Amino acid sequence: MKKITLMAFTAAMAVNACAQQNPIALKYGQLISAEDAKRHLSILASDAFEGRETGKPGAEMAAKYIAGEFKKLGLEAPVKGSYFFDVPLVQNVLKVSTFTVNGKAFTLGQDFFPNGTIPDNNIKAGDVVFVGFGTESELGTTDLTGKVVLWINEDKPEAGKTANTAVRMSTARLQVLKNLQSKNPSVILAANGDLSNLLKRFGKSITSPRLTIKEDATAPKTAGVFHITTDIANELVKATGKTYADLKAAAETTPVVTSKVDFVANYANEHTDVKAVDVVGFMPGTDLKDEVLVFSAHYDHLGLNPDGKDKVYNGADDDGSGTTGILEIARAFSKAKKDGHGPRRSILFLGNVGEEKGLLGSEYYTDHPIYPMANTITDLNIDMIGRVGEEYVGKPDSANYVYPIGSAMLSKELHEIGEKANDTYTHLKLDYKYDDPNDPNRFYYRSDHYNFAKHGVPIIFYFNGVHADYHQVTDEVSKINFPLLAKRAQLVFYTGWELANRDKKPVVDGAK
Ligand SMILES: [Zn+2]
Repeated sequence: MKKITLMAFTAAMAVNACAQQNPIALKYGQLISAEDAKRHLSILASDAFEGRETGKPGAEMAAKYIAGEFKKLGLEAPVKGSYFFDVPLVQNVLKVSTFTVNGKAFTLGQDFFPNGTIPDNNIKAGDVVFVGFGTESELGTTDLTGKVVLWINEDKPEAGKTANTAVRMSTARLQVLKNLQSKNPSVILAANGDLSNLLKRFGKSITSPRLTIKEDATAPKTAGVFHITTDIANELVKATGKTYADLKAAAETTPVVTSKVDFVANYANEHTDVKAVDVVGFMPGTDLKDEVLVFSAHYDHLGLNPDGKDKVYNGADDDGSGTTGILEIARAFSKAKKDGHGPRRSILFLGNVGEEKGLLGSEYYTDHPIYPMANTITDLNIDMIGRVGEEYVGKPDSANYVYPIGSAMLSKELHEIGEKANDTYTHLKLDYKYDDPNDPNRFYYRSDHYNFAKHGVPIIFYFNGVHADYHQVTDEVSKINFPLLAKRAQLVFYTGWELANRDKKPVVDGAK
């Protein structure tokens, strides 16, 4: 009896100690409100902003709006007095003038498409080297220099395991591809049985113009990769008297086969400069001002939908909600600073552009940071916090959860800080279901925080999960749960408050 009482007492003490709130943090955290969030998001995700596509007028309007808010809050403009951090992009269009196998012409978007951006090339080849699944043990000493390489774009089957055969490459397969590219072939033709169907459904969007960072577009490149259908693969190996499927089935015993072929391909990129900016607002710290905490969210989205009835991808949740969250967090910190409670560390509020085009704004920022990455203590990134994700619809805790991702990846201490902030102030259910780099959704790699993590900066990514309106024109303001958005933003604020004011920055003890 006594023992139990003592234990209960100790437990109560522990909960109490844990829930010790800082009245100053609480005062400013409570300023983050559903009403104010609604005011911002109703503007950012309105039809007038035309879906905020990178390089288009809608994104420029959004950037101006965010900068205007930063100015009102008294944040410093760190780019020579401007809130706009240039992200030099180019639009790439691959023009294919010839792509023939044994005189038979194939069409971009119907039969093949480039894997990412590929370098210009003019190829006239008399043979093709089939390399099976392309692993080092299959290749042996095969010389691929200057060769046209035909590769099975599937994971190599392993006994007792279901092989991943999707067109989208697994991490293991990307490694195999990288190794093949290092052998300097002239081009790699990646065959996959599902490609034909995929191109029927998505050929148009797959081959639509893509944006890249300007310096990447002009940098020297390793061999280009084309995804090709098995029809092309069959034509390539015709001279062997076998089909591609025959060679694939025999790849275990005969992985490398050279076939005569008449292959001609001429292609070149057309580049057009695209204007884009990240929006940056800076709050200098006090005694620890050389260290910088980043709050980030991308303000860009998918743009217009000219053929549809609803013509605008409003992106209210993705990521109008995160952008709104950043504005609210900035407002809370600004008010605190005005009242004499400014942060000890400096804070950078970062509105990223080009996220939907491949995390481009954050890639460029982290490669050319205003404040050194070595002094950047953490990035708290918000991408989609305004909705109930499909897995929580109808659940009792649907309006009281968030999926944190990556918090412990680089710093166990950061993870604990995030947990404690929640235990102390917000009491959301922290669901770590997607907090795994090997999760099939790969969310860890799919928003801007990843570029910070790449540079060894600890991160937490806040996310509500996907839903039926994800990347649809129906991602509208009317569907946003504003109290939930505000509460999740408060969690990010309290976590940031602790990070900005504690004596020591979180220890980095994880691998990138
Ligand atoms: Zn997003």
